[in-house]
Amino acid sequence: MEAIVADVAAWVADAQRIMVLTGAGISTESGIPDYRGPNGVWTKNPAAARLVDIDAYLSDPEVRRQAWLERMNHPAWTAQPGPGHVALADLERSGRLIGLATQNIDGLHRAAGTSGDVLLELHGTILRCRCLSCGFETPMQTQLDRVRAGEPDPSCVMCGGIQRSATVAFGQSLDVAVLNAAFSAAQACDLFLAGGSSLTVQPAAQLCAVAKRAGAKLVIVNADPTPYDSIADAVLDGRIGEVLPNMLKVPRQTL
Ligand code: NAD
Repeated sequence: MEAIVADVAAWVADAQRIMVLTGAGISTESGIPDYRGPNGVWTKNPAAARLVDIDAYLSDPEVRRQAWLERMNHPAWTAQPGPGHVALADLERSGRLIGLATQNIDGLHRAAGTSGDVLLELHGTILRCRCLSCGFETPMQTQLDRVRAGEPDPSCVMCGGIQRSATVAFGQSLDVAVLNAAFSAAQACDLFLAGGSSLTVQPAAQLCAVAKRAGAKLVIVNADPTPYDSIADAVLDGRIGEVLPNMLKVPRQTL
């Protein structure tokens, strides 16, 4: 694998327009479990998937009550960025990162220093709360304070509607502007790097094929096989926190 990392490091050094897609696997080393990895939330408890199904959320108060408790105890509130997040923030400072699309909702790319200029949070963020009726947004901690004070399912202060995290549940659409920006960057890049994702959630996973079709080199770093491995120029199955910093060695003088 060292030889492949060296090849990819050379491609990274030559690339002028790099696009990155990350998934839950980049945050497992920060203590946030993924969904489908060997220790994933859904691997251990398939019923947990109901908490991120929009129909179940809207129709079942018990699902909402459980979802609020999950948000309150989410590891994102104490997690720190890992070496993979930091390596990508360094890559942006090299001036060649044109987009960092993430499926993660944990805020760790931002915490590592990635700017809003390149960050595309495809599935939203757990740091904010949104009313499903009127769209009014508040910081998540404001709503969690209400849960701690005894409200099992705090409703919107503006319209009384049902609220949930500003994240995309199964059955909801992605933000069109964010998605379009991700597809444009995938079409414009000369190197596309996907890391820590099972690449099974659409439309995010399609970005790999879009970039490849547009002529970019495709590199996948993931502990398990993905459906896009067969079209990739390189597939690395090591730990992302070790592989990414090695492959993205950014010369410090460019910072
Ligand atoms: P996924 O759970 O489907 O896949 C994660 C992949 O990462 C797995 O294939 C696993 O083998 C790999 N992986 C885990 N740890 C790794 C490591 N240290 N090094 C290399 N690979 C590693 O996650 P996904 O593809 O992102 O899609 C699932 C959905 O999960 C997304 O919609 C996302 O919003 C949501 N999610 C987000 C978080 C988060 O924000 N941190 C956590 C769980 C789920």
